Amino acid sequence: MKGKLFVIGCGPGSVKHLTERAREAVTESNIVIGYKTYIGLVKELITTQEVISTGMSEEVERVQKAIKLAEEGNKVAVVSSGDAGVYGMAGLVYEVLAGRGWTRKTGVEVEIVPGISAVNSVASLLGAPVMHDSCTISLSDHLTPWKVIEKRLHAAAEADFVIALYNPRSKKRVRQIEEAQKILLKYKSPDTPVGIVKSAYREKEHIVVTTLGRMLEHEIGMLTTIIIGNSSTFIHDGKIITPRGYEKKYDLTEEEQPLKKHERLKEENEPWALHGGQP
Ligand code: SAH
Repeated sequence: MKGKLFVIGCGPGSVKHLTERAREAVTESNIVIGYKTYIGLVKELITTQEVISTGMSEEVERVQKAIKLAEEGNKVAVVSSGDAGVYGMAGLVYEVLAGRGWTRKTGVEVEIVPGISAVNSVASLLGAPVMHDSCTISLSDHLTPWKVIEKRLHAAAEADFVIALYNPRSKKRVRQIEEAQKILLKYKSPDTPVGIVKSAYREKEHIVVTTLGRMLEHEIGMLTTIIIGNSSTFIHDGKIITPRGYEKKYDLTEEEQPLKKHERLKEENEPWALHGGQP
């Protein structure tokens, strides 16, 4: 039997948000490997597969093992939460493979199965906060120097991105979120809408809508993602909404638009655009 390595994004944590392909991949595999919490996300799909669950910060060993087992002819599923390509296992799998001289032709088959990342699942619970240009920043400095994270926080805030903060706090890393708030407040108003979601689509789901100035008054932990709005983000009836710009051009209360279809792309109706290549 020819081995295969699946790297699977399992989504936020409910089976309803697991893709069909993720489901098939787990079912097709004879070995499932992952951090114990993530194995829990797919436990309903586990029948005869051998399960290898490992602890946190054992990612390198986990990947080495998965590759070895696939090279021996097994179909191995490496499971991540959310999307495997967003602070997940996909990158490490390819890094380790590259280091071993793997090629598509000569090495084991690899399939990365995309999943719904926390930024998407959390946003859906908060309303529509990520509608416009956005970025994700992980506050974990276990593998990234804090100086680099600081620089990205400054740049993202200055550029008015909507920002999703992953890994905002753990038992040991408590200062990072405080420092991040201070940096963001240099550029953003304390009234900027902020959504804090713990365990999206899991049993202990908890949703908070607050502001940048007050965000630290709420519980923030390992299973939390924080979304910080841009300068036009607003809160309506508990939902966070970032406009895409329609309101500049359309009357959102009217069924009949004052600007007719043929006028909508005209230069005079988009004075903010880059016209004819001229600023
Ligand atoms: N690959 C994952 C991210 C793993 S890093 C993804 O794409 O979502 C771990 C961080 O992801 C957590 O600290 C938290 O910030 C976020 N996260 C993962 N699942 C979450 C969930 N169900 N609810 C809220 N945040 C989540």
